[in-house]
Amino acid sequence: MVIKSSAVHRREMSDSPVITPDASGIGLAVAALQRGALVGIPTETVYGLAADARNPSAVAAIYAAKGRPHFNPLIAHVASIAMARCEVMMDERGEALAAAFWPGPLTLVLPTAPHSHTCELARAGLGTLAVRVPSHPVAQALLTLMNCPLAAPSANPSGQLSPTSANEVATELGDAIELVLDGGRCSSGIESSIVAILPNCAATLLRPGAIAREAIEAIVGPLAAPENNTITAPGQLQSHYAPRASVRLNAEQVGPGEILLGFGARAPSGARNLSVAGDLTEAAANLYQALRELDALGTQTIAVMRIPSFGLGEAINDRLRRAAAPRSR
Ligand code: AMP
Ligand code: MG
Repeated sequence: MVIKSSAVHRREMSDSPVITPDASGIGLAVAALQRGALVGIPTETVYGLAADARNPSAVAAIYAAKGRPHFNPLIAHVASIAMARCEVMMDERGEALAAAFWPGPLTLVLPTAPHSHTCELARAGLGTLAVRVPSHPVAQALLTLMNCPLAAPSANPSGQLSPTSANEVATELGDAIELVLDGGRCSSGIESSIVAILPNCAATLLRPGAIAREAIEAIVGPLAAPENNTITAPGQLQSHYAPRASVRLNAEQVGPGEILLGFGARAPSGARNLSVAGDLTEAAANLYQALRELDALGTQTIAVMRIPSFGLGEAINDRLRRAAAPRSR
């Protein structure tokens, strides 16, 4: 009997790479990853573009598909804290954060363990590794079956909006992936918070994200800010997370050529609203989808109302500032 590749299966079944994540769908994803192909995977933050983190050519294909600068290292996703301990060296602070937030949307940057399975390219040659245990049941099932770290940056061309649905991945990266597992709309909708825990250094918030600073500080105390002379995370690039339209922040009114993205009960009814109730968790979950929808209307500028900066507002404002920054592309 000739065993067909999942790409062939996929083409015979339909043109769409979007696959139901039942046992057979997850089996196809495992086979593709083991062959070194790229797979779109759901997580609770955003969809990831996954490859076997042990395989340098598979990891190179991620950089190529995203058009991602090579100095930007990737997050290694693992199924459990025990698997994380094989990849990185966790001190007490790392253990405490892992116990509090894993599985979940926290990424820890830690010294790489001597016998880490991840290839050099996934770490972009650094002595540290970013690691996370996602809670999405489909990501969990896949990681458990793979029994190895998966490198998985957000599944979008570098610098653009992160995808929060399988169809967005298929539309934007369909040619690069073998398939995308459809795990529904992402519940957090914004990327993980990234905290560096390095020897003799204060715990540092490299990227605000889906877990509020206040919750992290309740475990490890005050978080330091990153030194800005080195870029250690692409989310630290000035222009990132950008829609096609330009973005104007703290809008009080809508000008010519603009469309409003509202927040809270003060927004005019009928405007796209991140959260009518003013709930920052709901706003984070809606952020990228709302920007995509307004972008698709062909509008010149998206004018965004002021968002409070506490809790998840820190991450929302961080993404919006970068979306509004001058573009180089
Ligand atoms: P994304 O591409 O959206 O999945 O984001 C992954 C983030 O993790 C990027 O901002 C990376 O630069 C960051 N990251 C990965 N590895 C490291 C590391 N060793 N040190 C600092 N940041 C890292
Ligand atoms: Mg990204």
